[in-house]
Amino acid sequence: MASPQQPQVYQTKPEYSSSVLVRGTPDYERCRRMNPSSATPDRYPQEIHVPRTPQDIAAALRKAASLGVHVGIRSSGHVFGLGALVQDGIMIDTVNLNRGVEYDPATQEITFGPSVRVEEVAGKLKEIKRFFPHGHAPTVGAGGFLLAGGQGWFVRGWGATAQSWITKMEIVVPDGRVLMASRTVNQDLFWAARGSGLGFFGVVTRFWGRTIPASRLWERSFTFVVGDRYEQLMTWALTKGDETPKYGTDLNMTIYYPDKYDPLCTGDAVPEDKTLHMSLSLQCYADTQAQARVLLSAYDGEMPPAVRDALIEMKPVTETSFQRIFRTKRGFIGLGGDQRWSILSILSDPGTPLPRLLEKCKPALTELPTRTSVVFICTCDIVPDEQDSAVSIPQQYYISTITQWTDPGLEPGIYQPMRDRYKATLPVAAGTYVADYDVTNDDANGRVMSDSALARFLEIRQKWDPKGLFPNYKRFIETHEKIRRMESKARL
Ligand SMILES: Cc1cc2nc3c(=O)[nH]c(=O)nc-3n(C[C@H](O)[C@H](O)[C@H](O)COP(=O)(O)OP(=O)(O)OC[C@H]3O[C@@H](n4cnc5c(N)ncnc54)[C@H](O)[C@@H]3O)c2cc1C
Repeated sequence: MASPQQPQVYQTKPEYSSSVLVRGTPDYERCRRMNPSSATPDRYPQEIHVPRTPQDIAAALRKAASLGVHVGIRSSGHVFGLGALVQDGIMIDTVNLNRGVEYDPATQEITFGPSVRVEEVAGKLKEIKRFFPHGHAPTVGAGGFLLAGGQGWFVRGWGATAQSWITKMEIVVPDGRVLMASRTVNQDLFWAARGSGLGFFGVVTRFWGRTIPASRLWERSFTFVVGDRYEQLMTWALTKGDETPKYGTDLNMTIYYPDKYDPLCTGDAVPEDKTLHMSLSLQCYADTQAQARVLLSAYDGEMPPAVRDALIEMKPVTETSFQRIFRTKRGFIGLGGDQRWSILSILSDPGTPLPRLLEKCKPALTELPTRTSVVFICTCDIVPDEQDSAVSIPQQYYISTITQWTDPGLEPGIYQPMRDRYKATLPVAAGTYVADYDVTNDDANGRVMSDSALARFLEIRQKWDPKGLFPNYKRFIETHEKIRRMESKARL
């Protein structure tokens, strides 16, 4: 058995000796710890089920109900709080469920299971010359991504992937029935499954998504030294993003210590000079380079002097591919080994003036706790449509800090300072992207839905899961109450 101290490489297609793994056996522990972050919490389900069919899942749910325990689901483990590891309950790992992507030329839809990874979807799309907005990092599973809504490629114009691209889902509901859900069948399930993330009360076993013809992917980039120009750089970059057409563009910013990418640097300690770099990675989807240049042209022209002086590299618009981008990201996150991760984020409140947003977020974005930690900001521009799905919080800027470390001795102290920094950003947040919601600690959590969407969600949940097999909705209620208290206090 791998001891907790022994790093384990993260595999996206692991094989286990049995479809029901029992606590105390080597494969149980290997499966429990098969997460992209090696900081697997000390929580132990009594059994881990690795089903191959919806019927296997129904059996797992019936067993949990008969034992009176909770159920957790993992599709690829990218939510680092790992709420799926329900103490003494049953964890369902969907790794072997409908593991493949199929395309139906008649409907132009793809269908795939929840553990299918971004790189697997992208591989199939390349083969059939079609596009569907999967996620950005190669190892992320479809299940958690689409239940959260999904900030997929070119989200700015096309909305969250689950809002506008998913047409139906197959779901095993708590009483064991295997049902279809769409805009015309079991509409309430379909509504709730798109945006409730880890609060959802069923197991999604298959997704159907529409596709469009493929085009070409282009990228241009800028790198700056942050120094004392945080406000000027951020203002320029975010304003230029707002001036960029929404359709077909993907605007991402990272802030990091350059030592992060230096192969000669090791250890977790931040560099002595604490110099931070900020990079803009701007992508677009267009048939020709001339069109791509137009789409990303808001960044042309004269920069304000403070921004120009901070510029250290600028790369012109060149063609790239999803596969090339995955290769660079693969080394960045998601390999297990000795890498340990934590993510905190907010969705900015679009009503907050930019200077106030930047001021409130500054500690979270400039006080990185380790050499390899990184800030990731994406201009999302998701407009919620609460009638259609539980994606009900506006997502203007997604602002996150990913803490990375290798020394387990830094735990648990490593977590709290960044929680405190994100807690301080809550007054300028519309909420938290449910994919980053922490079921283990509420300090930095914001609303995951609007209050009215949560009320509707709770009604639907009560109908389908009256015995509360899936427990995370309780945390949502606590968080919403906390935020309401904070808001009333601020009004006094
Ligand atoms: C490196 C990295 C890159 C990312 N990139 C993006 C991105 O580009 N866009 C984006 O939107 N998000 C992104 N995310 C966030 C990501 O979408 C979420 O972490 C998502 O939840 C991951 O899906 P998962 O299946 O691995 O979730 P898991 O951690 O396996 O599961 C999370 C929760 O989702 C629920 N769940 C999972 N599968 C099912 C299922 N089949 N049925 C019912 N409930 C289920 C469970 O409650 C579970 O606790 C990224 C995260 C990381 C770490």
